[in-house]
Amino acid sequence: MPFTIIRNDITKVTADAVVNAANNSLLGGGGVDGAIHRAAGAGLLRECRTLGGCETGQAKVTKGYDMPCKYIIHTVGPVWQGGAHGEKELLYSCYKNSLILAKEKGCASVAFPLISSGVYGYPKDKALQVAVSAISDFLSENEMDITLVVFDKNAVSVSEKLMSDIRRYIDDNYAEEHCDSPYRSRNVFGGQMFRKAAPKAVQLSEDICAAPISFENMDETFSHALLRMIDERGLTDVQVYKKANIDRRLFSKIRSDTDYRPKKQTAISFAIALELDLEETERLLEKAGYTLSNSIKFDVIIKFFIENKMYDIFEINETLFAFDQSLIGG
Ligand code: ADP
Repeated sequence: MPFTIIRNDITKVTADAVVNAANNSLLGGGGVDGAIHRAAGAGLLRECRTLGGCETGQAKVTKGYDMPCKYIIHTVGPVWQGGAHGEKELLYSCYKNSLILAKEKGCASVAFPLISSGVYGYPKDKALQVAVSAISDFLSENEMDITLVVFDKNAVSVSEKLMSDIRRYIDDNYAEEHCDSPYRSRNVFGGQMFRKAAPKAVQLSEDICAAPISFENMDETFSHALLRMIDERGLTDVQVYKKANIDRRLFSKIRSDTDYRPKKQTAISFAIALELDLEETERLLEKAGYTLSNSIKFDVIIKFFIENKMYDIFEINETLFAFDQSLIGG
């Protein structure tokens, strides 16, 4: 999945590059920095001593030593001083410069902690917004698997309005015999969610042709239906798989294998990317052998977003994360 959020200790995450929330000296510190230096071993400090420190917002790279990664990218986040001292731009640069370095080193996967949100005091909800926006901007033009690793339970915090709208919707729709989602991901824990309040009746994105989709041909496979809808919506393949948080290789597989049966999360992310309404989503899911059920919390949350025409996959994934459900994409 191009972008995912997990709860874990970043020193335990396997990726081509792991990003360290370092300080200007690059000589180690507390929090993530201390944990990474302990896990990597003394060789890391020796190499860091040769780097001559790092400016806030910039990034430098070392080898991974005893960490389960090829590279450690050290970036220095801003100290939060109330928000009017360029903190947002500097934090954005941390993600951007780290990703540019990772790309230069040929990394296919990168794991980030929530930079600046510990000792440096950046409010976690705001830090998460900057992280998600820098990462999604990068992914709109590049191919990479990027994981945001959050440590404590409350790292992902939410607008109370959106949270209560979804809770109310779940109360109204979640069937009595609650059963846990089979799609629960093991290392994703609950937390608070942030973000704007649920907008009502938003129009479809400007670049999407909103004509109703027909599903008359019962024999049409999922892959055929998907490719037809992409054309009918006037979109390109790249627009759709990027918006769906789907890996390019997975998309090629679906494109070339007409009988491909995607996972349910994958099928749903295409419905979101194509901005299908609830009925169209159900029809597309049927082609892959799935339905949306009111007895699965994951499904009810997806229905909430579709009914409210909220098609931002990153926002949906933050909500799923906050409700301890697996994320969508593929
Ligand atoms: P900064 O100095 O940039 O604020 P910190 O290391 O103090 O960096 O904290 C950054 C974030 O990383 C905080 O949200 C903190 O809870 C989290 N964190 C601390 N240790 C770990 C770890 N081992 N793995 C992942 N995240 C961690």
